[in-house]
Amino acid sequence: MTTYRLMMLGPPGAGKGTQAKRLAERFEIPHVSTGDMLRQARRKGTELGKKAAEYMNAGKLVPDEVVIGIVRDRLSEDDAEGGFILDGFPRTRPQAEALTEMGIELDAVVNVVVSDDEVVKRLGGRISCPNCGAVYHKEYNPPAEDDKCDACGQEGLITRDDDKPEAIRSRLSGYHEKTAPLIEYYEAQGALKNIDGESAPDEVTEAIVEELEAN
Ligand code: ADP
Ligand code: AMP
Repeated sequence: MTTYRLMMLGPPGAGKGTQAKRLAERFEIPHVSTGDMLRQARRKGTELGKKAAEYMNAGKLVPDEVVIGIVRDRLSEDDAEGGFILDGFPRTRPQAEALTEMGIELDAVVNVVVSDDEVVKRLGGRISCPNCGAVYHKEYNPPAEDDKCDACGQEGLITRDDDKPEAIRSRLSGYHEKTAPLIEYYEAQGALKNIDGESAPDEVTEAIVEELEAN
């Protein structure tokens, strides 16, 4: 099986996590989500989690050196040796440069393109399972049984604190200011694959796989 070192790029709510989970299963590579790792640290109340929480709850980016350290540790684990899919990292130019300094060359950067209006609709309806992290949308992708996780059966799906309207605005402006410039950065390196993220999840997955297999 072909293996890949991939990165998902795109605004919050573009569907990076939704797609990364599917690609991780399909290509049997670990899904490395900095958002998931930071939320787990916050839940456990570790020093790192406490430090990150103040930024995350306000919809701001956690400082580069904190996130870079987490990713360096995670990518040095054995299961990431053959390939991985980065979701939510890098989000700034210094983070992208740190990845290169770690000696990591990406096979492809999947840029999931959706409009700001669509982002607001998606984040406004996102709900997730507090137990296993499965992600749903109240309207576009509801669980089979109301308020119950399809994947693990947990009752009581939750809205993330940073999916409240104030934090959504802050995250979108942070994306445009700090993360969107990475589109040009990776385009110049010849790694960028632009994917229309506004179609249905299955169609987006197929478009990504087609792009990857074309190379
Ligand atoms: P990200 O990881 O980029 O922040 P998510 O994968 O969590 O985004 O998706 C954000 C929200 O949009 C979730 O509620 C998810 O169920 C929904 N979603 C994801 N992909 C699509 C899609 N192609 N069409 C409609 N809704 C989607
Ligand atoms: P996500 O689940 O990717 O939307 O991330 C949720 C939150 O975690 C973000 O709004 C940031 O506060 C923080 N975070 C995740 N990844 C990064 C990163 N690469 N750099 C800085 N902050 C991050």
